Amino acid sequence: MKVAVVGAGYVGLVVGTCLADGGNDVVCVDNDEAKVKMLQAGGVPIYERGLKDLIDRNRSEERLRFTTDIAGAVRESLVVFIAVGTPAGSDGAADLSQVWATADAIARAMDGYRVVVMKSTVPVGTSEALIGRLRAGTKHRFGVVSNPEFLKEGAAVDDFMRPDRVVLGGDDARAIGLVKELYEPFVRSGSPILVMDGRSAEMTKYASNCLLAGRISFMNEIANLCHKLGADVDRVREGMGADGRIGRAFLFPGIGFGGSCFPKDLDALIRIAQGAGLDARMIEAAREVNRAQKTILLPRIAERFGENLAGRRFAVWGLAFKPQTDDMREAPAVEIINALLSRGGEVAASDPAAMEQARKIFGGRISYAKSCYDALRGADALVLATEWNEFRRPDYARMKDLMRSPVVFDGRNIYSRKIMEEAGFEYYSIGRPDVGTPR
Ligand code: NAD
Repeated sequence: MKVAVVGAGYVGLVVGTCLADGGNDVVCVDNDEAKVKMLQAGGVPIYERGLKDLIDRNRSEERLRFTTDIAGAVRESLVVFIAVGTPAGSDGAADLSQVWATADAIARAMDGYRVVVMKSTVPVGTSEALIGRLRAGTKHRFGVVSNPEFLKEGAAVDDFMRPDRVVLGGDDARAIGLVKELYEPFVRSGSPILVMDGRSAEMTKYASNCLLAGRISFMNEIANLCHKLGADVDRVREGMGADGRIGRAFLFPGIGFGGSCFPKDLDALIRIAQGAGLDARMIEAAREVNRAQKTILLPRIAERFGENLAGRRFAVWGLAFKPQTDDMREAPAVEIINALLSRGGEVAASDPAAMEQARKIFGGRISYAKSCYDALRGADALVLATEWNEFRRPDYARMKDLMRSPVVFDGRNIYSRKIMEEAGFEYYSIGRPDVGTPR
């Protein structure tokens, strides 16, 4: 099938590439010229596991192209995905300006029947509004399908190739049928394609993200209680997760969630609820707990080193909001580093994928280490902010040799307390008793 995907960001690039890999003829459109030029030249503007190989293969087999020309792309395609950004506006509501600009451009370019698929995360009722917007801009027939995306950054290609479910919203049987055809190669193992009305599809996306975010915030609150009360949240988590009604996923405490989705989707659903005359109290609580959690290590750093960190050097391992991505949007590491700097501390950072992103954010205010060990040179403490696999089994003796003092603040609970104790570290983590004493 001939497909256009408008918006070649984290979602659009993965969706377009995977659909090309499913045998479709795909053109990805973006209005960021530099991004498109880079893609046309064989580069990939984001880090996402497995994506580069898949792009290379599908480009060389001529099923995947990149352009800034939205009109041309719409004219040559039957199905057009909208995968542009829907960031939080200043009032927290989703800013739909990119969506409407895209919809208007699609309507202007249409020269016959098209299926327009809303892939971006949008407020309930947006797909209906999209129908009105397209109708105002074209005399041609079209179908609209709401198709929220559930992929996780870091595992985006796998998630798209093997989704738990595909949600299609709308009441246009022809359009739904065409989009179903696109997804059939990806659900051979039996995952359902759930067809529902557009509003329910849009709500499913927000409700899913808010529940996952809520689980994280709930566990973080429990972890903070465990820390105060002398319990070990790891044991508590195991005890809870063994209950089939609860399950083990999304119960890992830490320094909070970030990224381009959870924070803005919480904000958006809170605003949607307000617009409907309701208070989304659970979701507001999840947001507030997370805001505080991102800096939960700071008072503990202050307890150890004082409020004034002048002359103190901190290694920060992990900058991306989670492993396997270079995405630093709303990453807890950003808040922690800014706070350390504002208190006079020095920061040497290391991340397997996000160093370039970090340079855009911090410029010359921090130093960028060549390796995670290099970051430790002369450090008073290590702050671990992202649980990359390569940080999980370090050479503890080498770490100690490099550091000025063997102090670790582990924001993701990736180290064993026992090992840290045996290795002679002072070790502070989330919701678990501290190890070692200041010397
Ligand atoms: P992104 O910011 O990485 O990408 C959006 C892209 O759209 C950018 O490359 C931008 O240049 C382009 N764009 C903006 N306006 C355009 C226009 N008028 N014409 C052409 N291109 C235009 O965003 P993202 O993370 O890919 O998210 C896209 C949508 O998918 C959002 O609604 C988001 O909530 C949703 N979503 C994201 C994820 C995720 O993990 N990132 C997961 C599920 C859903």
